[in-house]
Amino acid sequence: MGDSRTLIMEDGQTTRASSVRASLAKRTLAHDSVTDPLRGYFASMAARTGDAIWGERTPYAPGQGWPVRVDLHLVDGLTPDEVDAWTPSACLLCSNGCGLDIAVKDGRMVGVRGRAEDRVNHGRLGPKGLYGWQGQLHDRLTSPMIRNGTDLVEASWDEAMNLITSRSKELLDTKGPLSHGFYTSGQLMLEEYYTLAVIGKAGIGTPHMDGNTRLCTATAAASLKESFGADGQPGSYADLDATEALFCFGHNVAATQTVLWSRILDRLAGSNPSPRPPRYTSRPGPGPTSPWSMGCYSN
Ligand code: SF4
Repeated sequence: MGDSRTLIMEDGQTTRASSVRASLAKRTLAHDSVTDPLRGYFASMAARTGDAIWGERTPYAPGQGWPVRVDLHLVDGLTPDEVDAWTPSACLLCSNGCGLDIAVKDGRMVGVRGRAEDRVNHGRLGPKGLYGWQGQLHDRLTSPMIRNGTDLVEASWDEAMNLITSRSKELLDTKGPLSHGFYTSGQLMLEEYYTLAVIGKAGIGTPHMDGNTRLCTATAAASLKESFGADGQPGSYADLDATEALFCFGHNVAATQTVLWSRILDRLAGSNPSPRPPRYTSRPGPGPTSPWSMGCYSN
């Protein structure tokens, strides 16, 4: 029976695993230790497309540390020697949390550099980390805007806050507390959440208060607890340096956490112990596997 699972390729396209396996089995792959056609397919995909998004490969073997590769992007014409200061920070454009240093010149941000000693990225940055900061150079909102019909009109903070309070009072007087709802950030501190709860529930008296954590962290914590019995992450990125088998379910690492995918590609490009063909199973959890049967599967 054919393999009916959907294979999510590195370029984001999907195809049936059975059709890839059948077509690849017909030809010889230029990869010394390939015994599994899918593994060879991913190795060749990495060689063909990896440089553009995931950077150059720095292969490493099981048990070795992930080699350092420092990625850098500065504004046109500027060299690292001309940077006034490097300010330690972190990329916040996905949950990977890569360490980076912000290049500063004449008091302005002029680039970023991956931090070599950071345990998450070992100096690497993906496309979002390398180039995303440029969006902060232009078109930043610097003052409140009040909607007037189809236009947004610049206003002072006093004007904006007075409008919020007068409109809120009007709604409370005419429609009551249920006219108000709060959709809050997941990034507040304890004291700020407390203040918000006092304003919303004790002050205004609305039950309609929800946080964005319902759509991200809270759901992740609930599923981790259900799967592993605890809401903490069950592993560490450093486990990728030692593991002999990796399965990704329902998570397109190549597209969403490009630096983590670089680590996986580097393991795949390095030497591996005695490859064996993968044995696919529908059982969740550990089972008979082959070293580095790479691919992300979704049903
Ligand atoms: S993987 Fe890319 S977007 Fe995510 S934290 Fe690292 S550099 Fe930023």
